[in-house]
Amino acid sequence: MGLKIWMNNGLVEEAEAKISLFDHGLLYGDGIFEGIRVYGGKVFQLEAHLERLYTSAQAICLQVKQDPQTLTGNILKTVEANRIVEGYIRLIVTRGVGTLGHNPLVCKDSQIIIVATTIQLYPPETYEKGLKVISANTIRMHPQSLSPQIKSLNYLNNILAKLEALKGGADEAVMYNHLGCVAEGTADNLFIVKKKIVLTPPHAAGALIGITRQVVMKLAVESSYEMREKDLTRFDLHTADEMFLTGTAAEVIGVVQIDGRQIGNGKPGPVTKELREKYLALTKSGQ
Ligand code: PMP
Repeated sequence: MGLKIWMNNGLVEEAEAKISLFDHGLLYGDGIFEGIRVYGGKVFQLEAHLERLYTSAQAICLQVKQDPQTLTGNILKTVEANRIVEGYIRLIVTRGVGTLGHNPLVCKDSQIIIVATTIQLYPPETYEKGLKVISANTIRMHPQSLSPQIKSLNYLNNILAKLEALKGGADEAVMYNHLGCVAEGTADNLFIVKKKIVLTPPHAAGALIGITRQVVMKLAVESSYEMREKDLTRFDLHTADEMFLTGTAAEVIGVVQIDGRQIGNGKPGPVTKELREKYLALTKSGQ
């Protein structure tokens, strides 16, 4: 049996969940999304995700035709209808049907789609072994072009960097900004540890204000680590004691190699492990 998908005002069978060819979400990547986790039947950090969704919408003049309360109710109904206990929600708002031209103002009916399903994580051994990353040549979008804070349906920039990684035999890529400072991974935020100080690029460097990032920064402070948002260079990554990525899907995952150079002893480091365990404990605590 297929999934039940929320389309605007109600649930429909997966086979009936259809969207027009003329939706500008498809034609132009004109829309926004959120990826959200369900742990133990509870939606994790829902308020933070919704706040980011409405902020992204405002930034691109997209009207989300449901208020946060209604949207919350519809998300919960979708999770329940699909009996998701441990899973992932994809919340999408597209610009809606328009003409073949890209003028967004002709699109009068933005579309809300909610998918709740199970999630395929990196396999457990990848968390044990850690990821190999490369520095991508593809840079993060210039903030005066498309703000990296907008979680838009247009991911080609990230996809090109991900391709560089995969074609180059790595798992992931680090994206730098137009100034040569580290921004983030292709779908995750990046942290390093140097002399027990935990460092991550500021959002001004092109890092999405990741929900996982915010939680992990708080956990680092609560664990008495010095936590700094700081511009980082390739040199900083190459000389880091530890590195890890954070994201809704990947949670907290160690990085053990960058640009062919081993990080630390080639295994996820102690701070990475501690923060990963604390993050997982938080997801299990139902907060
Ligand atoms: N950066 C990018 C580009 C992302 O797409 C994501 C989420 N997929 C993240 C960072 C991590 O954000 P979050 O912790 O909110 O999932």
